[in-house]
Amino acid sequence: MSGTATTGKGLETLTHKIKYNKQYSAEATSTGQYRDILDGQHPDVTLVTCSDSRVWERSLDDQIGKIFSIKNIGNRVEPNLGSIEYGVGHLHTPVLMIMGHTGCGAVHASTLELKDEHARILKSLDFIKPTVAEVQKLLIRKGGIAGYKKETKVAPVTKISDEAFFETLVSEANVDRQIENLLNDASIRNLVYTGKLMIVGTIYDFKDIYSKEKGAIFVINVNGETSVEKLKKLAAGEGDGRVVAGTVKRMLVY
Ligand SMILES: [Zn+2]
Repeated sequence: MSGTATTGKGLETLTHKIKYNKQYSAEATSTGQYRDILDGQHPDVTLVTCSDSRVWERSLDDQIGKIFSIKNIGNRVEPNLGSIEYGVGHLHTPVLMIMGHTGCGAVHASTLELKDEHARILKSLDFIKPTVAEVQKLLIRKGGIAGYKKETKVAPVTKISDEAFFETLVSEANVDRQIENLLNDASIRNLVYTGKLMIVGTIYDFKDIYSKEKGAIFVINVNGETSVEKLKKLAAGEGDGRVVAGTVKRMLVY
């Protein structure tokens, strides 16, 4: 057999994936991993995160059927409102998580003046541009990155470039904006208002900016609240909440 479909890296890659899948399904069958979800899914988190292949849902849960996952470049809510509504309105997940991440290519690209990029990609990035401008204006008011760090006492755990720091602030601001957009939606806002849904903004870090634990998740926003002090109090409120309070950390202070 010959032809374009069997040349190049495609067949090799597919073969690798099929081999992996055979092992996976043998194990999943013998351990009964699908047993309890054959008749329906009962996820507890609706997740909106970036398509970046390094951002892995398994960092939150390795059980099949627990995460209703929605991915796009830059973890935007707007193109996926239908899927989000399905997760929170029909599957009734108690948590809707918007997860940004460090080292985000979409955030990086939106800080550049791209000309030769595909129109569809440019359109997908357009939504971050106002957020980039917003963070720049904030930094101007605070006397640049140095002035901002001095005033807010925010410090990454490892030395990173000003560019990487700026992009981290934009990643956080982007998550905040997505949550704001969600709260502008009457149906989602009502679920939050009646206590049926908690919207959580997080940053997934593998760049040693928030901690040296790669793949660690930090809470930066709950139902639109962005004050670290208030978030810590909120999180420590009940039961094991202190576990959550310990992960509250923001680089962006408005
Ligand atoms: Zn990304």
